Amino acid sequence: MMKRSASGKDVYYFGGGKADGNSSMKNLLGGKGANLAEMAGHSALKLPVPPGFTITTEVCTYYYRHGGKYALGLKQQVDAAMKKVEKAMGKKFGDPKDPLLVSVRSGARQSMPGMMETVLNVGLTMKTMEGLIKQSGSERFAYDAYRRLITMYSDVVMEKAADIETEEGKGIRQQLEKLLAQKKKEKGAKLDTDLDAKDLKDLCERYKKKVKQVLGKSFPDDATEQLWGGIGAVFSSWNGKRAVSYRRIENIPGEWGTAVNVQTMVFGNMGDQSATGVGFTRNPGNGAGGFYGEYLINAQGEDVVAGTRTPAPINKNSQSSHNKHEVMLSNFQPKVYKQLATIQKRLEKHYRDMQDLEFTIENGRLFILQTRNGKRNGPAAVKMAVDMVKEKLITKKEAVMRVKPEQLDELLHPIIDPAAEKSNRPLAKGLPAGPGAAKGVIVFDSNRSVEWAKNGKTVILVREETNPEDVEGMRAAQAILTARGGMTSHAALVARGWGKCCIVGCSDMEINYAKKTVEIGEVVLKEGDWVTLNGTKGLVYKGSMPMIDATKENKELYSYLKICDSVRKMKIRTNADTPEDARKAREFGAEGIGLFRTEHMFYGKKSEKPLFKLRKMILSDSAEEREVALKELFPYVKSDIKGTLEAMEGLPVTIRLLDPPLHEFVPHQEEQLKELAKSLNIDMSDLEKRIAALKESNPMMGHRGVRLGVTYPEVTEMQVRAILEATAELLKEKKKVSPEIMIPVVGIDREIMDQNGIIDRVKKEVMKKHNLKKLPVMVGTMIEIPRAALTADKIAHVAEFFSFGTNDLTQMSFGFSRDDMGSFLVPYLEKGILPVDPFQSLDIEGVGQLVEMAIRRGRKARPGLKVGICGEHGGDPASISFCYKMGMDYVSCSPFRVPIARLAAAQAVLEG
Ligand code: ADP
Ligand code: MG
Ligand code: MG
Repeated sequence: MMKRSASGKDVYYFGGGKADGNSSMKNLLGGKGANLAEMAGHSALKLPVPPGFTITTEVCTYYYRHGGKYALGLKQQVDAAMKKVEKAMGKKFGDPKDPLLVSVRSGARQSMPGMMETVLNVGLTMKTMEGLIKQSGSERFAYDAYRRLITMYSDVVMEKAADIETEEGKGIRQQLEKLLAQKKKEKGAKLDTDLDAKDLKDLCERYKKKVKQVLGKSFPDDATEQLWGGIGAVFSSWNGKRAVSYRRIENIPGEWGTAVNVQTMVFGNMGDQSATGVGFTRNPGNGAGGFYGEYLINAQGEDVVAGTRTPAPINKNSQSSHNKHEVMLSNFQPKVYKQLATIQKRLEKHYRDMQDLEFTIENGRLFILQTRNGKRNGPAAVKMAVDMVKEKLITKKEAVMRVKPEQLDELLHPIIDPAAEKSNRPLAKGLPAGPGAAKGVIVFDSNRSVEWAKNGKTVILVREETNPEDVEGMRAAQAILTARGGMTSHAALVARGWGKCCIVGCSDMEINYAKKTVEIGEVVLKEGDWVTLNGTKGLVYKGSMPMIDATKENKELYSYLKICDSVRKMKIRTNADTPEDARKAREFGAEGIGLFRTEHMFYGKKSEKPLFKLRKMILSDSAEEREVALKELFPYVKSDIKGTLEAMEGLPVTIRLLDPPLHEFVPHQEEQLKELAKSLNIDMSDLEKRIAALKESNPMMGHRGVRLGVTYPEVTEMQVRAILEATAELLKEKKKVSPEIMIPVVGIDREIMDQNGIIDRVKKEVMKKHNLKKLPVMVGTMIEIPRAALTADKIAHVAEFFSFGTNDLTQMSFGFSRDDMGSFLVPYLEKGILPVDPFQSLDIEGVGQLVEMAIRRGRKARPGLKVGICGEHGGDPASISFCYKMGMDYVSCSPFRVPIARLAAAQAVLEG
């Protein structure tokens, strides 16, 4: 038989100031179980945690490996642990006089909010009901607990765990909820708390009948059967559809398994001195300090997050326009609140991170049911990290690890153009659950969201409220908008985890799923209509509004990046083609330009004149003709380069010589062709012949890069002269400059030798012309052809630096054309043939070897050879970490990725 654990211990007790486990045992006990043990047993905490026990994740993996069977001895261990709980509580499980009730809770290593199942009030049967009524003195409470048990148990254990598929909205839970709604209607009750004991008793009878009718089985009237049914259901929920899809999105391995926590029930639904709630030690939406949370009086379990009643704020700090009329916990039960406020402080100090906790108040007595490191969006993560360093709660190194590089993306996201926002009136206001702005067309169901997003639409998912079944649709949407729910609702929680723009509790919306419309006041929006959301303020606008960049004056971001810089070792440069790009990148902290593409000046704004000259040059037939065109082109190139060198104030600028195949620049319009012919003094048929001669069948592997320089040395000469004259002029103006000339598409050392000859000669000429003794310029090459990597030692004899052009290097290594890969990339990813798009994240296994080899050989020939990367991978965190390990001096990425690269490069140092 397979061994489960070295000790054979499958069950860990916690409660009454003691615990078998602790918070370091997350892999074995799951996050929830490990933290329950820590809170109950750690000498610095010893919090009021209801006693219970955790069945380990190893039991779960065993269960799956053995076709749904438990290991021998598990039952005895569970019985023994239950005895301990019974002893601590002075009650017995299944005892008709004074029954102990328990919850059966799931808990994986990493929290998967709402993905797996929990059953509350386990142990209630016709017999134990009597005892519960007597002991509590409240028939209403007992039946409220019972109807909740029937709902959860029939849904989780009898339906989901039994793999019964139902149509949307036809599950047993929904059917029972319909009965509840019906009952409320009969009684004219608004809330479920308006129903009395008799109503609930009658409802329980109806529930049980319905369960029998729909599922063909009776709701079990035996405490032990309920307990094991619950345990089995938690294990099988690990492989439930929702959990599997969540795991896929979050990259959680299926082998981890879940633990099961069996815990003494405490009752927030015992009457009007009872309550349940959730709290955060800081605001997870924006990172602001201060205890933050919501609670509901006379409620149980998920009521707060389910959005069925509007939760009340626990204190002033948690008030919003939505809940400000509800009574605060700090007023309702000031003593309990004080106790809770102290506990949350202790928890944050103990865990040294923002905690997300669950609490329940049973008749004025406080219990803590869960704590975990809280999820937070990017802006909140950054603010908390900066604040916690200031508060000396964490070190700078810890702060660096507290933010995921992708989370910074959220701070670099657009906001609605304030001018446009001022002149537009919002349609509705909800709670700002995820900041930033988003716009898109509205859809009302998750499948539609996925489908439309696949077709390239930007969608906003609009729902009454979301539940775990919606995750794929939420993922696919730009933003999420719900009519119900508070800041701790499912939608808010999930959006926060992903850093998505999200508005919840937008109660002005009347959604009609059948008609696919939403009514907001006078306005009716249909599926496919545009809306724009301001997630920072919770505002919903009709139509598509202009967006702008929000990165200016974000003090928190810049302080955080400074913290990162104190750890980081690699330099971060940017790929910038214009002085504007360069300026933006420098604001973000770029320490140089790693790729300046000379050809950019022939695209886009103001390119008309230089482009015309370039075309003339390209279509020249002889060296003389070309010389004339080049002379005309020269001043444009020089002033362009000079502008960028000047903007960088002495930081290194790598200028790449002309790279694309020339045919790309040939015009198509009749008008332009005529003008060209005229300027070249030839007729149209001659021009057409010249154009035809430039055509190549495989231009990306054709006459481009250094090959142009080899065949047209005068083209290289003009560019080099422009660079060096610009440099000389700036030096004379007493400005700092540091240009680096980069030759693209080199595969043979002689190519770069050939070009270097030209550079040497021009350099001498420029020095003489400007009467300079020194003209500092580096000459290097891109490593983007596999042969260059293989012969890097030879190339390094001439090249003073290498810059990995990993776009081409990936293209050439795989033999995948990036432009044509679209037709097969998706199936490759779906079949797992490729783990990720190799153009997004560097293929370390293959292309990485070329990088490693090139650096090793290059530095052997030229110790101290400067090495960087300028492919798109320079902005990808995983690739950045690899570059650091390879000993690169810098990575270069697009301006908006610079902050992300600063963080990723700092994390690379700490990953060691
Ligand atoms: P999830 O992982 O989805 O948050 P939980 O296991 O935490 O699921 O439980 C769901 C809800 O039930 C939570 O609000 C939790 O506080 C509540 N709950 C769980 N166990 C108990 C218990 N023993 N007594 C009272 N409430 C409980
Ligand atoms: Mg929970
Ligand atoms: Mg290239």
